[in-house]
Amino acid sequence: MLDVRKIRLILELRESGISSSDVLSALEIIPREEFIPENYRNQAYENIALPIGNNQTISQPYVVAKMTELLEIKNSHKVLEIGTGSGYQCAILSKLARRVYTIERIKDLHEKSLKIFHQLKLTNIVSKYEDGNNGWIEQIPFDRIIFTAATNNISDRMFSHIKEDGIIVSPIIRDNRQVIIKYKKKNNKLISEEFDEVLFVPNLKGID
Ligand code: SAH
Repeated sequence: MLDVRKIRLILELRESGISSSDVLSALEIIPREEFIPENYRNQAYENIALPIGNNQTISQPYVVAKMTELLEIKNSHKVLEIGTGSGYQCAILSKLARRVYTIERIKDLHEKSLKIFHQLKLTNIVSKYEDGNNGWIEQIPFDRIIFTAATNNISDRMFSHIKEDGIIVSPIIRDNRQVIIKYKKKNNKLISEEFDEVLFVPNLKGID
Protein backbone atom coordinates (compact mmCIF):
# COMPACT_ATOMS: atom_id res chain seq x y z
CA MET A 1 0.00 0.00 0.00
CA LEU A 2 2.73 2.46 0.99
CA ASP A 3 4.62 1.55 -2.19
CA VAL A 4 1.76 2.55 -4.46
CA ARG A 5 1.42 5.84 -2.61
CA LYS A 6 5.16 6.36 -2.77
CA ILE A 7 5.23 5.93 -6.56
CA ARG A 8 2.29 8.30 -6.89
CA LEU A 9 4.14 10.87 -4.76
CA ILE A 10 7.33 10.60 -6.85
CA LEU A 11 5.28 11.15 -10.03
CA GLU A 12 3.58 14.15 -8.42
CA LEU A 13 6.97 15.64 -7.50
CA ARG A 14 8.18 15.16 -11.06
CA GLU A 15 5.06 16.89 -12.39
CA SER A 16 5.64 19.75 -9.93
CA GLY A 17 9.00 20.42 -11.58
CA ILE A 18 11.51 18.32 -9.62
CA SER A 19 13.72 17.04 -12.41
CA SER A 20 16.86 15.69 -10.73
CA SER A 21 16.73 11.89 -10.90
CA ASP A 22 19.25 11.69 -8.02
CA VAL A 23 16.94 13.71 -5.78
CA LEU A 24 13.87 11.70 -6.80
CA SER A 25 15.61 8.39 -6.19
CA ALA A 26 16.79 9.56 -2.74
CA LEU A 27 13.13 10.25 -1.91
CA GLU A 28 12.26 6.81 -3.22
CA ILE A 29 14.94 5.08 -1.13
CA ILE A 30 14.42 6.80 2.26
CA PRO A 31 11.32 5.47 4.13
CA ARG A 32 9.54 8.69 5.24
CA GLU A 33 7.22 6.69 7.52
CA GLU A 34 10.17 5.96 9.85
CA PHE A 35 10.46 9.67 10.68
CA ILE A 36 6.77 10.13 11.48
CA PRO A 37 4.85 9.37 14.71
CA GLU A 38 2.79 6.18 14.45
CA ASN A 39 -0.60 7.88 14.33
CA TYR A 40 0.30 9.82 11.16
CA ARG A 41 2.15 7.03 9.34
CA ASN A 42 -0.67 6.28 6.93
CA GLN A 43 -0.11 9.80 5.56
CA ALA A 44 3.65 9.37 5.10
CA TYR A 45 3.44 9.61 1.31
CA GLU A 46 0.95 12.45 1.14
CA ASN A 47 2.59 15.63 -0.12
CA ILE A 48 2.04 17.43 3.19
CA ALA A 49 3.97 18.51 6.30
CA LEU A 50 3.11 16.46 9.42
CA PRO A 51 3.55 17.00 13.19
CA ILE A 52 6.57 15.31 14.80
CA GLY A 53 5.97 16.40 18.41
CA ASN A 54 7.55 19.29 20.36
CA ASN A 55 5.46 21.67 18.20
CA GLN A 56 7.64 20.94 15.17
CA THR A 57 6.89 19.46 11.75
CA ILE A 58 8.50 17.22 9.15
CA SER A 59 8.58 19.25 5.93
CA GLN A 60 6.37 18.57 2.93
CA PRO A 61 8.07 16.16 0.46
CA TYR A 62 7.87 18.75 -2.36
CA VAL A 63 9.73 21.31 -0.21
CA VAL A 64 12.38 18.74 0.80
CA ALA A 65 12.85 17.78 -2.86
CA LYS A 66 12.95 21.40 -4.05
CA MET A 67 15.47 22.60 -1.45
CA THR A 68 17.62 19.51 -2.04
CA GLU A 69 17.59 20.10 -5.80
CA LEU A 70 18.56 23.77 -5.31
CA LEU A 71 21.61 22.68 -3.27
CA GLU A 72 23.12 20.94 -6.37
CA ILE A 73 24.86 18.36 -4.18
CA LYS A 74 27.77 16.29 -5.47
CA ASN A 75 28.96 13.07 -3.83
CA SER A 76 32.20 14.79 -2.76
CA HIS A 77 30.31 17.42 -0.73
CA LYS A 78 30.29 18.18 2.95
CA VAL A 79 26.88 19.59 3.90
CA LEU A 80 25.58 21.34 7.04
CA GLU A 81 21.91 21.32 8.04
CA ILE A 82 20.49 23.68 10.70
CA GLY A 83 17.30 22.11 12.14
CA THR A 84 17.45 18.30 12.14
CA GLY A 85 13.82 17.96 13.28
CA SER A 86 12.63 14.47 12.35
CA GLY A 87 15.89 13.78 10.48
CA TYR A 88 14.12 13.17 7.17
CA GLN A 89 15.71 16.00 5.17
CA CYS A 90 19.08 15.00 6.57
CA ALA A 91 18.58 11.36 5.51
CA ILE A 92 17.80 12.53 1.95
CA LEU A 93 20.97 14.67 1.94
CA SER A 94 23.01 11.72 3.23
CA LYS A 95 22.20 9.75 0.05
CA LEU A 96 23.67 12.52 -2.13
CA ALA A 97 26.58 14.00 -0.17
CA ARG A 98 29.83 12.59 1.22
CA ARG A 99 28.96 13.64 4.75
CA VAL A 100 26.14 15.57 6.42
CA TYR A 101 26.48 17.49 9.69
CA THR A 102 23.16 18.38 11.30
CA ILE A 103 22.27 20.49 14.35
CA GLU A 104 19.05 20.48 16.41
CA ARG A 105 18.15 22.73 19.37
CA ILE A 106 15.46 20.41 20.88
CA LYS A 107 17.04 17.52 22.78
CA ASP A 108 14.16 15.09 22.32
CA LEU A 109 14.20 15.52 18.51
CA HIS A 110 17.99 15.28 18.40
CA GLU A 111 17.86 11.95 20.25
CA LYS A 112 14.96 10.49 18.25
CA SER A 113 16.58 11.34 14.90
CA LEU A 114 19.91 9.86 16.02
CA LYS A 115 18.16 6.53 16.68
CA ILE A 116 16.58 6.48 13.22
CA PHE A 117 19.92 7.28 11.54
CA HIS A 118 21.38 4.21 13.32
CA GLN A 119 18.41 2.00 12.42
CA LEU A 120 18.65 2.96 8.76
CA LYS A 121 22.47 2.61 8.86
CA LEU A 122 23.02 6.15 7.59
CA THR A 123 26.64 6.19 8.70
CA ASN A 124 27.70 9.43 6.97
CA ILE A 125 25.58 11.65 9.26
CA VAL A 126 27.08 13.45 12.25
CA SER A 127 24.60 15.24 14.50
CA LYS A 128 24.69 17.46 17.56
CA TYR A 129 22.37 19.11 20.04
CA GLU A 130 23.06 22.86 19.97
CA ASP A 131 21.91 26.23 18.63
CA GLY A 132 22.74 25.83 14.94
CA ASN A 133 23.10 29.55 14.33
CA ASN A 134 26.68 29.28 15.56
CA GLY A 135 27.45 26.88 12.71
CA TRP A 136 29.85 23.95 13.20
CA ILE A 137 33.20 25.70 13.54
CA GLU A 138 35.40 22.57 13.75
CA GLN A 139 34.11 21.44 10.36
CA ILE A 140 34.26 24.63 8.25
CA PRO A 141 34.33 25.21 5.34
CA PHE A 142 31.22 23.48 3.98
CA ASP A 143 30.26 23.04 0.34
CA ARG A 144 26.58 23.52 1.14
CA ILE A 145 24.42 24.75 4.05
CA ILE A 146 20.66 24.26 4.39
CA PHE A 147 18.45 25.95 6.98
CA THR A 148 15.16 24.15 7.65
CA ALA A 149 13.64 26.74 10.01
CA ALA A 150 12.55 30.20 8.89
CA THR A 151 14.93 33.05 9.61
CA ASN A 152 14.94 36.82 8.98
CA ASN A 153 18.42 36.83 7.58
CA ILE A 154 21.58 34.79 7.36
CA SER A 155 24.58 36.18 9.17
CA ASP A 156 27.81 37.14 7.40
CA ARG A 157 29.49 34.63 9.70
CA MET A 158 27.45 31.77 8.15
CA PHE A 159 28.33 32.98 4.66
CA SER A 160 32.00 32.84 5.66
CA HIS A 161 31.49 29.12 6.49
CA ILE A 162 30.95 28.09 2.85
CA LYS A 163 33.56 27.70 0.13
CA GLU A 164 33.83 29.71 -3.09
CA ASP A 165 30.98 28.42 -5.34
CA GLY A 166 29.25 27.25 -2.15
CA ILE A 167 25.46 27.38 -1.85
CA ILE A 168 23.14 28.19 1.07
CA VAL A 169 19.40 27.43 0.80
CA SER A 170 16.99 28.72 3.43
CA PRO A 171 13.41 29.79 4.06
CA ILE A 172 13.64 33.57 4.61
CA ILE A 173 10.97 35.75 6.22
CA ARG A 174 9.95 38.64 3.90
CA ASP A 175 7.15 40.87 5.22
CA ASN A 176 4.42 38.39 6.18
CA ARG A 177 5.68 35.63 3.91
CA GLN A 178 8.41 33.03 3.81
CA VAL A 179 10.25 32.25 0.59
CA ILE A 180 13.00 29.82 -0.28
CA ILE A 181 16.18 31.71 -1.15
CA LYS A 182 19.26 30.22 -2.76
CA TYR A 183 22.54 32.09 -2.19
CA LYS A 184 25.62 31.29 -4.23
CA LYS A 185 29.08 32.57 -3.33
CA LYS A 186 30.86 33.73 -6.52
CA ASN A 187 34.12 35.73 -6.46
CA ASN A 188 33.38 36.37 -2.78
CA LYS A 189 30.04 38.00 -3.66
CA LEU A 190 26.60 36.55 -2.99
CA ILE A 191 24.12 35.99 -5.78
CA SER A 192 20.61 35.33 -4.47
CA GLU A 193 17.58 33.84 -6.21
CA GLU A 194 14.04 33.56 -4.86
CA PHE A 195 11.87 30.45 -5.20
CA ASP A 196 8.61 29.06 -3.76
CA GLU A 197 6.59 30.50 -0.90
CA VAL A 198 6.78 28.10 2.07
CA LEU A 199 5.72 27.70 5.69
CA PHE A 200 8.43 26.62 8.16
CA VAL A 201 8.59 26.80 11.94
CA PRO A 202 10.78 29.67 13.15
CA ASN A 203 14.51 29.48 13.76
CA LEU A 204 14.92 30.08 17.52
CA LYS A 205 17.94 31.02 19.60
CA GLY A 206 19.44 28.86 22.34
CA ILE A 207 18.57 25.25 23.24
CA ASP A 208 15.48 23.56 24.72
N1 SAH B 1 14.61 19.22 8.46
C1 SAH B 1 13.52 18.88 9.33
C2 SAH B 1 12.55 20.04 9.47
C3 SAH B 1 12.19 20.19 10.89
S1 SAH B 1 11.39 21.66 11.40
C4 SAH B 1 12.82 17.60 8.89
O1 SAH B 1 13.12 17.09 7.80
O2 SAH B 1 12.02 17.06 9.65
C5 SAH B 1 12.75 22.68 11.87
C6 SAH B 1 13.61 22.24 13.01
O3 SAH B 1 14.57 23.26 13.22
C7 SAH B 1 12.88 22.04 14.35
O4 SAH B 1 13.12 20.77 14.83
C8 SAH B 1 13.49 23.11 15.24
O5 SAH B 1 13.62 22.71 16.59
C9 SAH B 1 14.85 23.32 14.61
N2 SAH B 1 15.50 24.61 14.89
C10 SAH B 1 14.95 25.85 14.96
N3 SAH B 1 15.88 26.77 15.24
C11 SAH B 1 17.06 26.10 15.38
C12 SAH B 1 18.39 26.50 15.71
N4 SAH B 1 18.71 27.78 15.95
N5 SAH B 1 19.35 25.54 15.76
C13 SAH B 1 19.06 24.23 15.52
N6 SAH B 1 17.82 23.80 15.23
C14 SAH B 1 16.83 24.72 15.15
